[in-house]
Amino acid sequence: MNKLMHYPMVIGGELVETGSEDLIEPASGKPFATVALGTKADVERAVAAAKAAQVDWAARSYGERSTALMKLADALEAKSETLARLESQNAGKPLKLTVGGDVPFAIDNLRYFASVVRRQEGSAAGEYVGGYTSMIRREPIGVIGAITPWNYPFMMAIWKLGPALAAGNAVVIKPAPNTPITTIELAKTALEAGLPAGLINVVTGGAEVGEAICTHPDVRMISFTGSTRTGKRIAELASPMVKRVTLELGGKAPFVVFADADVEAAARGAIPAAYMNSGQDCTAATRIYVQNEVFDQFLSRFTELTQTIRVGDPFAEDTDIGPLASETQRLKVHGFVEEARQQGVKVATGGVMPEGDGFYYPPTILVEAAQSASCVQEEIFGPVVVVNRFSDEAEAIKLANDIPYGLAGSVWTLNVQRAMRMATAMECGTVWVNDHLPIASEMPHGGFKQSGIGKDMSYYALEEYTIVKHVMLDITGEQKKAWHSVVFDA
Ligand code: NAD
Repeated sequence: MNKLMHYPMVIGGELVETGSEDLIEPASGKPFATVALGTKADVERAVAAAKAAQVDWAARSYGERSTALMKLADALEAKSETLARLESQNAGKPLKLTVGGDVPFAIDNLRYFASVVRRQEGSAAGEYVGGYTSMIRREPIGVIGAITPWNYPFMMAIWKLGPALAAGNAVVIKPAPNTPITTIELAKTALEAGLPAGLINVVTGGAEVGEAICTHPDVRMISFTGSTRTGKRIAELASPMVKRVTLELGGKAPFVVFADADVEAAARGAIPAAYMNSGQDCTAATRIYVQNEVFDQFLSRFTELTQTIRVGDPFAEDTDIGPLASETQRLKVHGFVEEARQQGVKVATGGVMPEGDGFYYPPTILVEAAQSASCVQEEIFGPVVVVNRFSDEAEAIKLANDIPYGLAGSVWTLNVQRAMRMATAMECGTVWVNDHLPIASEMPHGGFKQSGIGKDMSYYALEEYTIVKHVMLDITGEQKKAWHSVVFDA
């Protein structure tokens, strides 16, 4: 039997071989590689390496850091095909998505941070109190602990590393236990591209390693993307030392179709919105609300289009969606569908667990579930969408917002005033009008309510990884003007 490829961790510029665990290929359900399994001692070593590397890195000018990160982006681009293949094999994503989307977009994101760090924004320095010059410094925070999920492993790693490094921090990153490969490759590529040893450290493992990162006293900030449940735990772990957190958590995006919309465009737009990456997307359209007058028209066209989706081998050219990332996830998704069936919810298409190898699941439409049903309220994170009806704008707003999540949503209408009213009323971090899913490196991504705290991407993300300092300088040599002189200098 062929020996499986092994992926060690990257700590302090060295490849570290602690432990070994099988990685399962979602398309076959069989082991295809092994990965190191980190321990608390590895976290200690990684944090120490990051702490040491951060001092010199922070002392570099914006331009020097930018040049180094641009070199990393070039090196990643040179091996983007390999990275895309590894991501597809490890996470079950169609090659179309990793080659054409995830990998090039993440590299663009890195280039954006490498460039925008050179143009710092903020208040102007000046004499806000007479006789003193005040200025704002945005300083790096230090060592950042980054914890990422399995649905976009490479992209999520870049979303953390890009702004954190550009701002002058060093990072200890823990990828999800089942999808660590491209994060490890990223760290190795960074060393090849000349980034200092210890600047990016990858420690593999699950909750135990994650908690060791969160509770380490030298980790000053935790940047987390994952479920709302784990996000709450991270916030608890961060609180005794008042660590900074950014939490990019779950979503349950509404997709609201008014009778005055282009219904054909909405039905077509709902296909990628609901099913891209097999629905394992925090911004996926999972609750489609359609106004009564066009409900039947939309549902019949959306069902017809859903049935044309080609589910299959991630490496096949004609595959639209691949398997789910793990058997655990597939069983969870099917559990929601079974529960909905028991509640009397109609299944318009899909909902049957396929036989054979791999963690495949068909695109599934549930129709007219109660707003309180778990398939409407909870994150399913699979290719399952609920189509419900509404009567007027007030009801659409109520239903769209009646959920603990608030990451993203969309409104479909040709009435510009209605579009703007809905965009204002919807409680979520991103609202699309007549589309759903596109994102841009320059624009923020992050949730309202239990979808999280803070922003990824954009200049807002760069700010998350800095700490504001006010420097106030006496420019008279007399110390007479500020209020303390009034009190003490009678
Ligand atoms: P998860 O919360 O189970 O795990 C995420 C990461 O946290 C993994 O690396 C995991 O090992 C680690 N972890 C688990 N328990 C931990 C603990 N106690 N302490 C520290 N680390 C711990 O999430 P998942 O199932 O990997 O990912 C899917 C979730 O991620 C979905 O809810 C999805 O909506 C969310 N997500 C959100 C965004 C966003 O930008 N808002 C983007 C992608 C995914």
